[in-house]
Amino acid sequence: MLQGSCHCGKVRWTLATAPTRATACSCTACRRYGALWAYGILGEDVQITGETRGYLRCDIETHLAFHFCPECGGMVCWLPKAGSESQRCAVNLRMADPDAVAAVPVHRFDGFDTWSSLPDEGRVVGDVWF
Ligand SMILES: [Zn+2]
Repeated sequence: MLQGSCHCGKVRWTLATAPTRATACSCTACRRYGALWAYGILGEDVQITGETRGYLRCDIETHLAFHFCPECGGMVCWLPKAGSESQRCAVNLRMADPDAVAAVPVHRFDGFDTWSSLPDEGRVVGDVWF
């Protein structure tokens, strides 16, 4: 199990199992947030507690909304858009304790241009934390 929380602690997530990789996406939203995503299914292996505010990007057709803490602004997760069939979601591993995620391999995804995975550079979260 792995847990994370925003800076003020009002929003928390729990992953049932430790993530096998952390996705760093270069899309116009993710690169601004600097998030490292770990994926799961909301209500199954991912639990979110606390009130969030969602940002539904309108520049592209999308099935997800980014959710942040309304108190401290921390980017906590992305969740399926209301009415979505899929409950696939992702949590931001930067909300976890650094030591708990330091060894997780980083998966680079080119969400800006080719919408495909980039070659593995062998880096782990601990290498890109700062
Ligand atoms: Zn907060």
